[in-house]
This record gives sequence, structure tokens and C-alpha cells, in this order.
Amino acid sequence: MLADQLPLPYNEHKRNTSMQKRIVAHFDMDAFFAAIEERDNPRFRGMPIVVGADPQRGSGRGVVSTANYAARAFGIGSAMPITRAWKLAQLAQQRGEPATIFLPGSWRRYNESSDRIMAIVKKLTPMMQQRSVDEAYADISHVGSTEAATALARKIKEEIAATEKLTCSVGIGPNKLVAKIASDFDKPDGFTIVDESAVEQFLAPLPVRAIPGIGPKTEERLKEIGVATIKDLYRQSENDLIEKFGSWGEELYRKARGLDDRPVMEEYVRKSIGEQQTFPKDVSDAGVVIQTMSEVVRSVFSLLQDKGYTGARTVVITVRFHDFETISSMHTVKETMVDSLTVEREAIRLLLPFLDMRRNPKKKPLRLVGVRLEKLE
Ligand SMILES: [Mg+2]
Repeated sequence: MLADQLPLPYNEHKRNTSMQKRIVAHFDMDAFFAAIEERDNPRFRGMPIVVGADPQRGSGRGVVSTANYAARAFGIGSAMPITRAWKLAQLAQQRGEPATIFLPGSWRRYNESSDRIMAIVKKLTPMMQQRSVDEAYADISHVGSTEAATALARKIKEEIAATEKLTCSVGIGPNKLVAKIASDFDKPDGFTIVDESAVEQFLAPLPVRAIPGIGPKTEERLKEIGVATIKDLYRQSENDLIEKFGSWGEELYRKARGLDDRPVMEEYVRKSIGEQQTFPKDVSDAGVVIQTMSEVVRSVFSLLQDKGYTGARTVVITVRFHDFETISSMHTVKETMVDSLTVEREAIRLLLPFLDMRRNPKKKPLRLVGVRLEKLE
């Protein structure tokens, strides 16, 4: 059977009336939160910046959310404990490097900037999917050629730079997987095009960690069987991989070949707004926990109103115990909650079982509480 006589997958038939080449672009903002701080605070420009938890001179809790490239040069990275970041910053300073600026982050500004960026991508592409606050895929198959796709993606990148004064890295490939790996290939301010015919060649020398979903655990287990690069992974038989990793092995086999047929979908973006608060010290006092929960609810509710919503129908609370056990509990009401007090009441009702025998029989102290509102109206 000729390729152009093959039936199209269901999710393709709407967009692809002819068997056209699939082209996906992935846009990923560079060190997004830290870049916004640099943009908005001229005195920070060029300085190492870490957005995240308060380091409290080395005794802080929580993690790094984003580090800019100047801070990354000291070995500081996302999701690293803030105390470790502080230590690395101190060491760098002792070597004569500039002092690192630690910032708590301004989620409102980041969200506003994200909304404007996503609107640009959406305006210029027919089918986009936001992946996170600072990442989006766009299916740009309609332009017909890699050259035309490149021109369109450049235009989007330039418009983001012009309006937001921020850089992003762009990857273009025959599917989401390759586009994402490509956008990560030459950060920051990168632009990497991988034609369908060059996929395997592009992937071969990259470390397996370049594949999204392969974390330190899988990396370690692959190392045990002598696999370090995607080329090494490519050489494994599907059976061997399945034997070692189960169904994940099957996926690894496909990923090593750059295969991915997930469509770019205008997902129903789950609209939710939430915040959480880590206690400076683990807390057993129910009064303190309730008080903090009330404050978090009030803050989340005002954020909700700032975003133009009138209320929400679902409250989700999260508690994390001192041993990091984390539990969420949620409740959906029939009538939209339109004032902060009603939400507070619901949140505290959900919280109470975690403060007594019902869901905390061992009386474990709490490390964090959080609230998220969903079903926003
Ligand atoms: Mg990013």
C-alpha cells in the first residue's frame, strides 16, 4: 500500500485533509521567572538570580523555582533545595563572583506575562497546546514545508521578544517529542529545526536524559545496561527494554526513534488557581494551621478575582506532613462560592480531619498547607 493511501488516524482526519507532512513547533521561554525579574528590575541585569523559597541565610526550606543562566553557571538549578543553592552562591562569591540575588517570585506578573505570550502563539497558529506556564506546542503542518514553518516560528519568536522583551527557545520537528527535544537543544535563545529525515541523526549523540520523561532513576537503570546516549538506547531490542522496564520499555524503544503520534490538542486547560505555604518550622498547633490555611485561602481568592473570575465550585486542599507524606482532599459545592469566607469555611472543614485522629492518628506535625480552587466561574 502506498503511504498516501493509508488511512489517517482519527485525531488527524479533521486537520489533515491530504496526507501532508506533520510539523510541530515547541516554544519554551528561557529561565522564565528569572528573566522576568531581570527585565523588570534593571539593577538586577546580568546578575545571578534565583527565584524560589527564602534561603534564610542557608537554613531555609523549599526549593529553587528558576535560576537564570548566570546563577546556573554556579551549578544552581530548578528544583534544587534552596539551602544547596545558597551554599553554591556563597562559594561562588568566595571565588570573587557577584552575589546571587534570591527573590520570592511574583506569580501575578509571571501569569500576566504568560497569558500575553500564549495569546501571541495562539494568534499566529491555528492549533496550539499550552504545556505549562512558559511552554507551548503548535501544530503548523498547514504551512506545508519546513521552510515555511521556520518562517512562521521565527515570526512568533520575534513577536514575543518585541512585546515581552523576553527570549524563548524554539524547536521544530515532525512531532511533539522531537520538537521539545529540539527546543531544549540550544538554550537560551535557540532555534533548532529537525527535519523528519534527520530525526535519528539528531537524536543519536544526545544523552538519554534529553528525552522528556527520562529522569535520574531511568538514567541510572539504563546506565546499568550500558546505555548513555540515545544511540545506545536505539540499539537495544524492544524485548530487552520491555523485560527491564515493562510498558515504559516499549515507550523508550519508540522515543529512541523519535516516534510520537500524540496530537497537538487545544486541551481543555484545567482552569485552577492555587497557592501553598510551607511553615518555617513543622507545626502541630491546630490554631496555627487553621490560621495559615485562612490566609492562603484569602490570598488565592483575591488572585481569582484579579483574574476576572467571580467564584469557584471546587476547593482542593493539600497537606504535607513533616515526613513529606502529602494528601489532597476536595469538595465540590452546588452553588458557586463567591466570597472568600465561604471558601475558607469549606477549606477548614476539609482540613480538620488532618488535625485530629480521623486522618492524623499519629499526630504528625505539618510541613505545608495549600489550597486550589477549580471549576472557576
Ligand atoms: Mg522554560
